Amino acid sequence: MHCHSNFSDGIYSPEELLELAQKEGLKLFSITDHDAIEGTNVAEKMSNNYSFAYLTGIELSARYEQTKIEILGYNFDSTKARLHEKMMFLQEKRNERIFKILRKLEEMNLDVTYDDILKQIGSGVSPGRPHLARAMIEKKIVKTINEAFEKYLGNEKPAYVQRETITPQEAIELVLSGNGTAVLPHPLLVEGENLQKLEEYLELLISWKLEGIEVYYDYSHIETFLSKRKIKAGIEFLSNYCKKNDLLITGGTDFHGDSGMLGSVRVPKEEIKNILTYFNL
Ligand SMILES: [Zn+2]
Repeated sequence: MHCHSNFSDGIYSPEELLELAQKEGLKLFSITDHDAIEGTNVAEKMSNNYSFAYLTGIELSARYEQTKIEILGYNFDSTKARLHEKMMFLQEKRNERIFKILRKLEEMNLDVTYDDILKQIGSGVSPGRPHLARAMIEKKIVKTINEAFEKYLGNEKPAYVQRETITPQEAIELVLSGNGTAVLPHPLLVEGENLQKLEEYLELLISWKLEGIEVYYDYSHIETFLSKRKIKAGIEFLSNYCKKNDLLITGGTDFHGDSGMLGSVRVPKEEIKNILTYFNL
């Protein structure tokens, strides 16, 4: 229920992702591009030809104080005007950030141009750091996406630029304005070391009408310092937290096409049933 098409920073087109989802035998599928609904709309139109249930999705960039807290939106009506307007704003901010990062790379005498990035973006509408990382691989500056993030693009690395963005409260309101359901993705990336702190964030988000948490997520493919033990403890905590607070439990791989596998995160059958009931599928 969490992956990216080439309309944001994924490699595969919505059509290719639908085929992959079918091949992996998924029961439920959603494309959740960063600040973009074009890909998920294309997939929704074609989804009748497949045996799994399809939900429209989006992953909205947001920040609370200095903490990056993204918000997933599901099953919304994408024709709602407010959603469109805000997304244009977010896409513009993404572009501005790319130019700032390019300037920093240039100061470091690294030869990456906007044309290189455009080649990676292709038909996409939502430029992001993975596009930059892929351009850097092609230019032989780095060998892997991870290396690009660890050396240059990651938080607090020399070419890092913070992007102006909306707050999680605004993101949740946007999802609600399209009658969608707001879910917190990869919660342990928000705060995985200190579960008490995570709980404080969750309480805030719930007060703003968050309805679910992506409890099942593959943390292994993302830059994180969390140990396996911490991840296991976090997932257990979140699962109990959702049950106690009557929150929807979801799962996703955050598949972009260049690492991990679509469908590699398996959500327990009972939870899949709950999700299907929740969305009347
Ligand atoms: Zn994602």
